[in-house]
Amino acid sequence: MATLQGTPVLILREGTQRTTGRDAQRLNIMAARVIAEAVRSTLGPRGMDKMLVDGLGDIVITNDGVTILKEMDVEHPAAKMVIEIAKSQENEVGDGTTTAVVIAGELLKRAEELIESEIHPAIISNGYRFAAQKAIEVLEEIAIPVSRDDDEVLKKIAATAMTGKGAEVAVGKLSDIAVKAVKAVAEEVNGKLEVDTDNVKIEKRTGASVDETELIDGIVLDKEVVHPGMPKKIENAKILLFNGALEVKETETDAKIRITDPEMLQKFIEQEEKMLQDMVDKIVGSGANVLFCQKGIDDLAQYYLAKAGVLAVRRVKKSDIEKLAKATGARILTDLRDIKPEDLGEANLVEERKVGDEKMVFVTGCKNPKAVTIIVRGGTEHVVDEMARGVEDAIRVVAVALEDGKVVAGAGAPEIEVSLKLREWSPKLGGREQLAVEAFAAALEIIPKTLAENAGLDPIDVLVELKAAHEKGQKTAGVNVDTGKVVDMKESGVLEPLRVKKNAIESATEVAVMILRIDDVIAAKGLEKSKGGGEGPEDMDMGMGGMGGMGF
Ligand code: ADP
Ligand code: MG
Repeated sequence: MATLQGTPVLILREGTQRTTGRDAQRLNIMAARVIAEAVRSTLGPRGMDKMLVDGLGDIVITNDGVTILKEMDVEHPAAKMVIEIAKSQENEVGDGTTTAVVIAGELLKRAEELIESEIHPAIISNGYRFAAQKAIEVLEEIAIPVSRDDDEVLKKIAATAMTGKGAEVAVGKLSDIAVKAVKAVAEEVNGKLEVDTDNVKIEKRTGASVDETELIDGIVLDKEVVHPGMPKKIENAKILLFNGALEVKETETDAKIRITDPEMLQKFIEQEEKMLQDMVDKIVGSGANVLFCQKGIDDLAQYYLAKAGVLAVRRVKKSDIEKLAKATGARILTDLRDIKPEDLGEANLVEERKVGDEKMVFVTGCKNPKAVTIIVRGGTEHVVDEMARGVEDAIRVVAVALEDGKVVAGAGAPEIEVSLKLREWSPKLGGREQLAVEAFAAALEIIPKTLAENAGLDPIDVLVELKAAHEKGQKTAGVNVDTGKVVDMKESGVLEPLRVKKNAIESATEVAVMILRIDDVIAAKGLEKSKGGGEGPEDMDMGMGGMGGMGF
């Protein structure tokens, strides 16, 4: 505490926690490493799953790094920073989240050793940044081009992304679906392929084996036709999308209507009926024979629509309405009063079909064919969920590989190759930064090391063999987790998009450097803690003021 001629000077509000210098660094590094340690055992094809139970008792079983981190209720700010990079890795490339987090943890561990030997964190940060830049260059050099027609390679990329997610039983089928789906929505812009993976919709259904997962050319909604009297199948569909409710009761204002005699009530009801009838007339008059409504549809309106032979679905998710608009060319209407024929979308077929125990609505043969749906099947909800996460990863990596046209071998091959090249390069840098570059090179070895460990192999043996192979110029040598042998991963077909690896190294470096540069943590007294912490129960009443005391 600062003092002035013996009088303490209070600068920070009482209860603020402050840690500085080495302590701050040590605590931050520790917190970040705990996070990395938590997901490390899930890395790779032999990684284990985690069972996550939330406050309500809901269970998620997964092998997916980012899913685990999202579910974890983490408080430490440095730990949160690490989770953020997993999320951004997921958003930007869709795979490699565990890799990024594990590398970040190892970079920090090595940094701590350097700090112990009196190397300033700023020097380490600089060295790490140089190393990351160099690493990206090396990755670019060793990247293997992949052509957009090479479906076999694309399927291998999909399969690599799905390994460890329990999809092994149907990996051939799922990779094939992932490649077909991505290719169906890929668009050529100025000679380059662009893929908006949002156009691949994923629906999940239990009650069948993973093998029965199917790719639908069009959009599938997890909904049913709203009224039994409506047609279940419409060919040459003219589709109307409405983002409101087909109801009259839902008044926005809170007006009260005083009804004084039965006649008035009758009139009132008639009025309502007429309004609904008018709305339906407008819809039918526009030529629409299919209606997708974002909100509810009144019973009476359902009846009128059924009588007019319109297939209607209510409470369609906003995101699905948007997808339908894109696929069918329909305009999303907010007001039914001015429907124009050109607002309607088109599809060859809209049909309700039974999938598993429940019904789904299929919209196929759309005007714009760049929309597909994968219905992921599996025995139980947990299986389907994990499978869907695997398929999502597969779709993202295939999309990235198609866009960039570049891949690298996996199974630890790129990490060891980069590590080797960094070690060769580091003497050129000289000075203390050289030590940081060497630490960076060593940190990358955590990937093959962990892959081996998780497969029950001896990590030291594997590393020694891997390094020897790379020193002999076998740039794509990686670890076969089944046999423990070092083999050519390009030949084995373990392939990942270049962008996934680049991004993983970049984001791991970024967060490690960010954490290293912090030497002062000033934490305000949290709201939660001010309720309980420290004070005896007699202090808990009004004296605490504010929200803390209100409940007593
Ligand atoms: P991430 O969240 O980082 O994608 P994963 O659990 O998916 O984590 O593991 C990815 C790692 O597993 C990558 O290093 C990848 O090369 C490796 N890998 C994937 N398939 C295989 C395989 N068949 N043999 C060896 N390593 C593999
Ligand atoms: Mg992965």
